Amino acid sequence: MRGRKLALLGMALVCLAGCGETAVPAGGGAEIPAEAPKYVALTFDDGPRRDTTARLLDGLRQRGASATFFLLGEQIAGNEDLVRRMAAEGHQVGNHSWSHARLQGASRAAVDSEIGRTDALLRRLLGEGTYWVRPPYGLLDPQQRAWFTVPLVHWMVDPEDWRLRDADKDVAAVLRAVKPGDIILMHDTVPASVDAALRIVDTLQSQGYTFVTVEELLHLAGVTPEAGVMYRSATVSAA
Ligand code: ZN
Repeated sequence: MRGRKLALLGMALVCLAGCGETAVPAGGGAEIPAEAPKYVALTFDDGPRRDTTARLLDGLRQRGASATFFLLGEQIAGNEDLVRRMAAEGHQVGNHSWSHARLQGASRAAVDSEIGRTDALLRRLLGEGTYWVRPPYGLLDPQQRAWFTVPLVHWMVDPEDWRLRDADKDVAAVLRAVKPGDIILMHDTVPASVDAALRIVDTLQSQGYTFVTVEELLHLAGVTPEAGVMYRSATVSAA
């Protein structure tokens, strides 16, 4: 899986460097105009949860789809194998605070504690790395963003799956709204959301979409991620 994804990234970089110029294929036949590549990032908050997250990982692996998981530190005990599996299978692992505390309006010490505790645990489990942050509820005061040393992730498509708990409605809400470059918010703690996410992967893959991590999504769009900037899609960051 890693190899496939690296090859994909390599191809995209080559294309940025000038696919437009190579109009004549080596075989000399008529060129079929290639559709622009369509990338999208599924993100899952509030896990890991033993049964639902494992089922989601199985389904993503079967489909060759990558995703990003924003984990709650307090959910990790007893699920360390799932966290290692996420990283080993090419998914991006991020930080959703320790206890889902609302960080907006909180003191710097409180934010440092909620984020730092989960960051330290992820480093212990997965090694040194940059564990991007999605604040609970996606909320931070603009001046709080400067406290972060990693990129922040919001979303463009929110089916409110945690509230609907209905796979048909989740699928319809995402398919109605999604476009290339979007970051989609879902929750791997809800059984219906896992069903919906795998159906969304099947449908969008059949439409030519490739599922990548948030980090890959920005890289493919030529965006250099910056600490303290809140990204909503490949091209949009929060004001
Ligand atoms: Zn959450």
